[in-house]
Amino acid sequence: MSLTYLEWNCPMCGKKNREDTNSFAYGTPIRHCRYCGGEYLDRRWTEIAVEGADKRSTTPKIWFIASLVMLLIAVFS
Ligand SMILES: [Zn+2]
Repeated sequence: MSLTYLEWNCPMCGKKNREDTNSFAYGTPIRHCRYCGGEYLDRRWTEIAVEGADKRSTTPKIWFIASLVMLLIAVFS
């Protein structure tokens, strides 16, 4: 098993925190600084959530355009 560590800088005290990806992936997006105890919302976690939401909203649109193109090909050929 390979252990990968993610590093992030605390916005409160500026110190570098290091966590392994297992606790990162299954935890909340809010990280706690181990030096000053400050809370930090990790953007890497929220970006993944946003990308997932975008995929869900654009996929039906792509299928609609694809079916429209197929219809046009059927009509004009
Ligand atoms: Zn801190």
